[in-house]
Amino acid sequence: LKITHAEFYKSVYSLDQLPEEKLPEIAFAGRSNVGKSSLINCLVQRKKLVHTSSTPGKTRSINFYLINRSFYFVDLPGYGYAKVSKSIQARWRPLVEGYLKDRATLRAVVLIIDSRHPPTASDIQLKDWLQFHRINTIPVLTKIDKVRKSDRQRHREEASRLLGIPVDEIFLFSSTEKIGREELLKQIVSLTEH
Ligand code: GDP
Repeated sequence: LKITHAEFYKSVYSLDQLPEEKLPEIAFAGRSNVGKSSLINCLVQRKKLVHTSSTPGKTRSINFYLINRSFYFVDLPGYGYAKVSKSIQARWRPLVEGYLKDRATLRAVVLIIDSRHPPTASDIQLKDWLQFHRINTIPVLTKIDKVRKSDRQRHREEASRLLGIPVDEIFLFSSTEKIGREELLKQIVSLTEH
């Protein structure tokens, strides 16, 4: 199970710029600063494939990365950052929802949540929206290295309860410690294969 090739493909600022529905896609969503860029970089084992934004919540494009020349990782702009202007927030919804809805090649959305805190209202709202649209959701609790080992299962159970997703379907992850990488990658790759 190896990522042998990963390259930036395209930034999309409006729905008419979306690439053709040709290859399987795995999208990544999460609140700004949750550790989304780090998680993608960790999966592909590249330090800076996805550039971490110095201004959280500023990115408003959907970024496509071509992986192993056979599927796309789709980095969605982070949501729920308080300081982001209303006009940027107003653009997030139509662009992101417009992409996610009826995307034939979309196999799953990896929903990234900060393991130190329970899922927020916006995390739960997005999960409900994805479920309503029958889009596969892979919940991942990241920065798990910051949670004491003895507390990890409790945080996982709390997330399970709030998201309404079985506890064994929730992944624990750390980009800095590479915890859970193989497991998550296996799940993702299996979804791109059939
Ligand atoms: P993004 O805005 O969601 O793309 O978040 P980033 O990937 O830029 O990460 C935000 C901050 O959290 C950065 O300072 C990262 O170094 C840190 N971070 C991300 N993932 C982890 C992790 O798994 N463990 C720890 N300890 N810090 C992390």
